Amino acid sequence: MKEARWWHKEDDGRILCTLCPRLCRMADGQAGFCYIRKNIGGKIYSLGYGTSTGFAIDPIEKKPLNHFLPGSQILSFGTAGCNLGCRFCQNWSISKAKLDEAQSLNVGPEKVVELAVKHKVPSIAFTYNDPVIWGELVIDISRLARERGLKSVMVTAGYITPEARPEVFRYIDAANVDLKAFTERFYRKLTFSHLEPVLDTLRWLKHETDIWFEITNLTIPGENDDIDETKQLCDWVVENLGDSVPLHFTAFHPDFKLTDRPRTPAATLQQARKIAQSAGIKYCYVGNVHDNEGQTTYCPACQRALIRRSWHEILDDQMSGNRCPCGVKIAGFFAKPPSDTARKRYSRALR
Ligand code: SF4
Repeated sequence: MKEARWWHKEDDGRILCTLCPRLCRMADGQAGFCYIRKNIGGKIYSLGYGTSTGFAIDPIEKKPLNHFLPGSQILSFGTAGCNLGCRFCQNWSISKAKLDEAQSLNVGPEKVVELAVKHKVPSIAFTYNDPVIWGELVIDISRLARERGLKSVMVTAGYITPEARPEVFRYIDAANVDLKAFTERFYRKLTFSHLEPVLDTLRWLKHETDIWFEITNLTIPGENDDIDETKQLCDWVVENLGDSVPLHFTAFHPDFKLTDRPRTPAATLQQARKIAQSAGIKYCYVGNVHDNEGQTTYCPACQRALIRRSWHEILDDQMSGNRCPCGVKIAGFFAKPPSDTARKRYSRALR
């Protein structure tokens, strides 16, 4: 438990949390919507600080990130709770759990970074539940990780206030942001949140940071798979973020409170990918289905298949640094992950 940032006391004695746009007001003893920020004796505490519901070493493609150190592995972990209320949550046993209901390990920032170093992975992912709600821990780990030459990745819904954003993302190198739909109706009805703050975070990432980011849209039959909505989403991305932000359409499976919808057919994702390509998006992928073509990175100039994948496995990589052999630069960070020796050298230089 750590005293939290991003809050202030209101005139009526309650505390307003300004970390996410939900802006919870908490009387003494009350927790916010996310369960892990609580007013205790007139201060907000981050209950999830230094805890984890578990660790895994994943291919970075599983986050999904296809243009950031492809082929590398990443140490992934999360805590409990969430600031969204997605009825289709694919990870609900963690995100909907209160801390005392989730099986948690006590691990401070140093321990997390040590784990990554010990397992020789070049980066750490804050994932499984939304890391925005444990922003204090994100900052402490990502700062330490940078000192040790490791990269930090946020997997997030992007539901964060402009006030907290620069601090939480300060030492972040890459992010995958869910753009869950392109209608306020969907966000309100199925996530208990709003669309505009997410769009605002995406614009901020693009125009005010150097953070590499990709976007994921979990496509749910009958809820956000309308062709016109997909067109509008893609047009917005091109107009506001440019044509080089990778877009992933991934398949939904029935889960949590949304069990009356079928799995997303592969054809729906392939159609969405075509719509994105017609809108001018250069790098578009499909996920959670078998579709090697939809998981391949193509050169937007010569159309060469540069990185061929099967699910999260790389079958073939023809990149030459950040370039296609034809000479065209591909957006992203394709440098080979730093070797252990290089990382130690970098770490020594920083001291
Ligand atoms: S971070 Fe949690 S407590 Fe703070 S406003 Fe968001 S949901 Fe509420």
